[in-house]
Order: sequence, then structure tokens, then C-alpha cells
Amino acid sequence: MKTVRVKIRVTGIVQGVGFRPFIYRIAVKNGLNGYVRNRGDAGVEILLEGSEERVKNFLRDLKEKKPPLARIYEVITSPLKGKNEFESFTILKSSEETELSGSVIPPDIAICDECLKELRDPENPRYEYFFITCTNCGPRYTIIEKLPYDRENTTMREFPMCNFCRSEYTDPLNRRFHAQTVACPKCGPKVYLTTKKGELVNSEDPVREAGKLLSEGFIVAIKGYGGFHVATATTMDEPLIKLRRVKHRKQKPFAIMARSLEATKSFAEVSLREAELLTSYMRPIVLLNKSEDYYLSDLIAPGLHNVGVMLPYTGLHYMLFDRVEDPAFVMTSANPPNQPIIKDDDEALRRLSGTVDYFLFHNRKIAHRCDDSVVRLHGIHQVFLRRSRGYAPAPIVLREKAKHCTVGLGGELNNTGCVLLGNKAFISQHIGDVENVETRDFLEKATKHLIRLTNSKVEAVTCDLHPKFTTTRLAQNLADENGWQLIQVQHHHAHIAALMAEHDVKEIIGISCDGYGYGSDGEAWGGEILFCTRGELGFERLAHLQRQPLIGGDLATRYPLRTAAGILHKKVDVEDWLMQHRERFPHGEKEVEVVLHQLEREDNAIMTTSCGRVLDAVAAVLDVCYERTYEGEPAMKLESIAVKGEDILKLKPIIANDVLNTTEMLLEIFENRGKYSKADLAYSAHAYLAKGLATLAIEKALEKNVKIVGFSGGVACNRILTLIMRKIVEDSGLKFLVHEAVPPGDGGLSFGQAVIVGFSNF
Ligand code: ZN
Ligand code: ZN
Ligand code: FE
Repeated sequence: MKTVRVKIRVTGIVQGVGFRPFIYRIAVKNGLNGYVRNRGDAGVEILLEGSEERVKNFLRDLKEKKPPLARIYEVITSPLKGKNEFESFTILKSSEETELSGSVIPPDIAICDECLKELRDPENPRYEYFFITCTNCGPRYTIIEKLPYDRENTTMREFPMCNFCRSEYTDPLNRRFHAQTVACPKCGPKVYLTTKKGELVNSEDPVREAGKLLSEGFIVAIKGYGGFHVATATTMDEPLIKLRRVKHRKQKPFAIMARSLEATKSFAEVSLREAELLTSYMRPIVLLNKSEDYYLSDLIAPGLHNVGVMLPYTGLHYMLFDRVEDPAFVMTSANPPNQPIIKDDDEALRRLSGTVDYFLFHNRKIAHRCDDSVVRLHGIHQVFLRRSRGYAPAPIVLREKAKHCTVGLGGELNNTGCVLLGNKAFISQHIGDVENVETRDFLEKATKHLIRLTNSKVEAVTCDLHPKFTTTRLAQNLADENGWQLIQVQHHHAHIAALMAEHDVKEIIGISCDGYGYGSDGEAWGGEILFCTRGELGFERLAHLQRQPLIGGDLATRYPLRTAAGILHKKVDVEDWLMQHRERFPHGEKEVEVVLHQLEREDNAIMTTSCGRVLDAVAAVLDVCYERTYEGEPAMKLESIAVKGEDILKLKPIIANDVLNTTEMLLEIFENRGKYSKADLAYSAHAYLAKGLATLAIEKALEKNVKIVGFSGGVACNRILTLIMRKIVEDSGLKFLVHEAVPPGDGGLSFGQAVIVGFSNF
């Protein structure tokens, strides 16, 4: 039997997922000597000595039996010269070597079944320990300060293991062998309850005490893996009224955490696929339709047909429900307006003591903040509204390798950063609205952290075309500082490019619809039909929605009655109608007079082709929503009304010179008010837009001989529009693509920008 010596380097998600213990086990099983160790580039290095046959078996096991959370991107095997020097197989101390790139640490992982069982087992030393974890579960991305993933490089370094934990940590047969987050009540992080001023509340059982307080209607800030949540009861109105008042959130829906899947089914409809998502180790917030007998407070998701629900994902979360009967608690990210989610204790005390009644702290630091992810289903298709905890920073793996390592900084709202390296795109956690210094810094930090983690040698940075976005300035600075190429990318092109990259498509007719994006001509775009080709920095704008005036500029976005008046004014006298609605304007009758005056001078108005604004206008005409207090509110509420409707008006799309008319549609809705139900009219408006956009796209696809039509942009979160378009496009024999891996909204922009530039020949 020939003996060999080989060095194997593995890249992928191979640190923090029980990979070294796994390697140890398969090496020993195959009778091989040598070592395994983590590397500073997030990869793993293995040295094997033994027969050729055994090495072959080892490599087979490596691929076939890898731990469930591990992802292997590359296995590089190189023969070594020299005599055998190992007499056994061992796990060595990590090396700092960083020559390989493209590996990354895993996302945070929800508590596993075995840990959950131990949490409930009175015989277990970690019985009722809120921070129970193992190699298969627990925080990862949010605790790692630098690589390699060793305890001293994480925020667990402050908790030296006790003898018991160490004995498990060093036992190759134990589930916690080399689990960096291993801890127990004796040696691990402690949890404690305080008043809103930070004074300790003496309690034997702070977690369950907090659960009781929540159940009684108190507001409690709870420190989790990636930041603080603000929590309260879901079955009473009073705490929600208070929470909305102090958080200045008039209408924006709150996410809730249900005690169990069973409890969720008592107030929401849960399909099989939705149940799978809810219970997956990513544990995202899933938007579920409220059921017929929805009995939670209407103040959780006012005016919406659905509600965002997640299941507990840490021991602490499970224990919150132990001593109470509540089906769910509100569990919303603790972030002050336009600020990132709060992660540090002192910041929480400073910023939240006016909001909450109590704090449930633990004394482990959070290295990186990470909001919860949000998904919904369109039929069988999963749509990301926010891709964050549980997913980031695991990469989107592309079929082909990019030509340039590129960083995308996204747009402004709901932003993310992205590092494209080879065939992998690492998208950051949710950053939020990058309008001020705090979110800007968060974006910069998160992106630089990703570059470091993946060991990327960046060549180019890309951002939106908008000259005044904070991210545009940041891109400029980074380009100057590092000598990177700077390339700006048009907003709607980036949306479609993201879709193309995700599906490995070379050309597409893209329907790119959202609220606002800076057009190539400087105008406000948002209802675009584009022809895009992979590898091209440019694109062709083939068609769009009718340009409509924004009466009062940004005010029209906030108060959709203004947009509606701007459209209707061309056809009817809107004075009486506006006067009837004067209470809906912040300055009443006076403001209506100003609006009427502005309507006369319409030529000065800012024009937009935005699809979002048209939906807003329909919402205003149908008395569904008069003020946009959060992004997408009027359109979301309109969809919620339309869910129960049908296409009663059956309007035929009016298309001339590659423009879809929207004035006539709004007029029809306006004139049929009272004649038909709101639901039917709301649905008819959706049907008109979907039919019109799909018809235009099909027409253009035939002209260009392209076989694929895709739908992207924030409006693609709308289920009704998506389903109608899909039917029309597929009936015409073309393929219809939507996002599955990245958000259709602006959270997907950084990825779209990066693939445009990374695959181009700039
Ligand atoms: Zn576990
Ligand atoms: Zn311990
Ligand atoms: Fe957008």
C-alpha cells in the first residue's frame, strides 16, 4: 500500500459550523494521521498522512458527510514531500495565514433541537440556561471580531470556560467539541433585569420575570444576538398605543414573535412552505395572512391583511413564554428613527429609557449588529423583504466568476453593502436608510468587515447614479482612499442586473418598478421597461409609465392626495373633491388652496414615471391611505384591500409611443367610486398596471428577440401584480423571472451594482 502525504485546503463556510471536529472524526475513522486547523482567511487546512486509498475515502467523506451548516466552495489538494511525522490526528491551534480568499463565517443560527431538549432537561447542567448553544447553533456573525474563528477573537473571550465546559470542548465525541460559544450557567454570560433607569431588579429568574412583565402590558427592551428588540404584549391595545406614541411610529407594522407554530396558526394562515420557513434555522420573520379569526390587537399591523411573525430562536426567547399564556409578543428592532439597531448596553439605556419600562440585559457584547430577516411567499416563490440575520453574510453563489472584485454600496433606503469576489457575492446584513452619519458609518464598517473576512482585493467600487446620496459620497471617498475605480450605476438597471445575476441570464427585458430612482436623464424614474445585457455597463430604456407631476415635490410622496390631484386635474375639476378632504392635509383648507394653485402651474412640477406613486394615488382616491408614514405604506394598504377584490373594471391598457397611460386608469377608479367596492376597484387598478407592464414587456421581448421577462424593484414585493404579470408573460410563451435569493427592493441594489461592474470590461 502506497503511503502519501497531502495538504488539503478547504474554502467555504467551514469555521463555526463544527467543521474541524468533523474532519477529526473522519480522519480518525479512516485511520489517517496529521492535523486540521482554522486559517486566518476563514478557510480550513488539513494535513494527512496515510495510504492513498484512505485519503481517497477521506475526501469522499469530506464531501458526502459534511456538517449540515457547512458550505464547501473549494477543496485544494497538494502532495507534500518528506517523511511522515505524525503519529495521530489532532486539532491544532489556528494559523493566521490568509492567502486564500472567499471563505466566510456563517450567519447566526437558531437554537438546535438538541440544545432545546437540554434547555428543558432538569438533569442537564445547562437546564434553563438562556445562552445554551453548540457547534450546530448559536450566534456566529454577530460575535466574531476577527478571524480565525477562535474564542479569543469573539466576544465570548470574556467568559473563560469552567471545567465542565472545557471537558466537552476538548472531547472529540461531544457535540460541543471546539464549539466557540460553549458556556453554562457557571461560566457563561449572565442575564439580568433592570428598570428603565438601569437599576437592577432582584429576580431569581429574570427571563421569565420579563415574560410576565410583557404579558402584563409592560414594554421591555430585550438584548438578543444581533441587537435589542423592544417587546410587549400583542393582545391588548394600551401598550401598543404607548409604544407607537413613544417610537413615533403611527402605522408601521410591528413584527411579532409567536410562542410556537401552533400558536401562530391560531391567528394567521400558515401554509406548509411558510411553516418550513418559520421553523428553519434562519428563523426569519414571515409575512402571514391574518386568519378569519385574527384576535391580536389591530394596532400591530394596522390596515394590512398580513402580519410579520417569527418563532423563538434563542433559549432566552423560548423561556420568555414559559410562565405566561400569551400567543405572541411584539418583537420589533430597537432602532431610533433613521438609526441602526441598538447593540450596546449603554446606548440602549441612553436611547430607550424613554420608551421602555424595563431592560432584559445580558453581559455578552455584540460585535456586529444584525436585524431580523423578513420574507413573504408569492405562491411557491420566496420573496425577501429584508435579507439579514440567518442569511448574511453567506454568499449568493453565481455560475460564473466576475472579472473584477467589486464593492457595491447600494442606494439610500433599506440599504445593504455587497462584496463580489469571483463567483460569490457577499451581501451585508440590513443596514437601513443611509441618510445620516450613524447609518453611513454602519454601512462602511459592515462593508469593510466583509472585505476583511473574505480577504478580498478590491478593484472597483460602485454606487447609485444619484449625485446627492450619502452612499455616492462614501463611494467617492473609498475610491480616493484606496485607489479603486469608481463606477456609478443607474438604479433600475441595478435592480434588473441583480435579477439576471441571480438566475444566470445573459439578456432580459426587465420590468423595474419602485417608488423612486434617479434616471439617466436626471428625472425621477420608477416604472421602467429596460433591455439589459450581462457585461454591459449601459442598458436601453425601452418604455415606461406615463410621466406624472409630483405636486409639491417630496410632499406628494408623503401625502398621496397631492399626486392623485396632479393626475386627475388633467381631466376633471378636483377642487370640490380636495375640499371634501381638507382635513387630510396638515394645514387644512389653506393647504388645499396652495395645492390648487400649484396645479395651475403644473409645468413647474417635478415629473415621475414611478409605479409606486401611481399606486399611492389609487390608495388616496379610494380613501385607503392619505399619509405615508413609512415606506410603501399606501401601496401596501392598497394591496391589502385588493386581496379580496376582482378585476371588475377590466380596463384595457392604453399604450402609445412606448408609454403606459396611467391618467385614464386613475380617472376610471375616481369615477367608479361608490359604484363598486373598494376591493374590486383596488384590484382593477392592480390588474391594469400588471397587464399594461406585461404587455409592453412582451412586445419589447418580441422586438428584441429576447425570451425572458423579469420583474424587480420594490413594487415586485406586491403579490397581486406579480401573479397577474406572471400569468400573462407565461401565457405568451416567455419565461418570467422574479427574485428568490436577494430582495427585489433596494436591499438588492448593492448586489445588482456589483455584478454590473464586476462582470464588465471597465
Ligand atoms: Zn445546539
Ligand atoms: Zn461552563
Ligand atoms: Fe428601487
